[in-house]
Amino acid sequence: MAEKPSRTRPLLVGNWKMNGLRASEAEVSALAKGLDGARADIWLCPPITLLSHFIGAFKGKPLSWGAQDCHAQESGAHTGDVSAEMLADVGAVSVIVGHSERRRDHAETNAMVRSKLSAVQRAGMVAIVCIGETLEERERGDVLPVLEKQLRESLPEEVDGSKTVLAYEPVWAIGTGKVPSGDEIVEVHGFLRERLDACGAAGVPILYGGSLGPSNADWLLRLDNVDGGLIGTASLKASSFLEVIRACQQG
Ligand code: PEP
Repeated sequence: MAEKPSRTRPLLVGNWKMNGLRASEAEVSALAKGLDGARADIWLCPPITLLSHFIGAFKGKPLSWGAQDCHAQESGAHTGDVSAEMLADVGAVSVIVGHSERRRDHAETNAMVRSKLSAVQRAGMVAIVCIGETLEERERGDVLPVLEKQLRESLPEEVDGSKTVLAYEPVWAIGTGKVPSGDEIVEVHGFLRERLDACGAAGVPILYGGSLGPSNADWLLRLDNVDGGLIGTASLKASSFLEVIRACQQG
């Protein structure tokens, strides 16, 4: 049950987004049953309403738990928000920060993402930092400059490799069934790896996210510098998530 990210085993993070009710526990049970012998670390980020209950219900299973967002401050007058300390208190080990849906729906900037990352690490957890270009930016030929800026502004100058995971999620690929070509992903991940190496963060896993599922996991998860995946839709059903997990078993 690795909580510290490593590049030696694939890391698959399921992001349930705003999906799931108490009855969804059956999916997690089915998932947990299928994890024996899995050759990947599996982290699940259910909605906040289910997080604490799932952590208790699945104690001892080869699953680690994360949240999908947090506030940058430890406590205070922020109605409706949840702090990193509160998430750590219920047993979460990771928090997604800067997902494109939060950047879009809540106008989160790179500076805000950076503050949230600090909060997650302050609470002793791993920050899963998301970056990715829009379709418009891609069509303008700006993929690498856009990612470079997001990376530079969202990460601190000194990156704590034991508490950071980077997820490359092209915005146009999320939930659309479209994915970049293998060559495009290899180019981006190679670029991100170089940037991380240059700031002493060689150990930070780089996940690919965006319509990763049973039909493409076998080739996507084998690409150079792809250390795992951030998986939305396909993580909602145990059957499809397990197919993705099994793709790490082959070869
Ligand atoms: C995501 O939300 O991070 C994601 C990758 O979603 P999907 O797998 O559905 O594209």
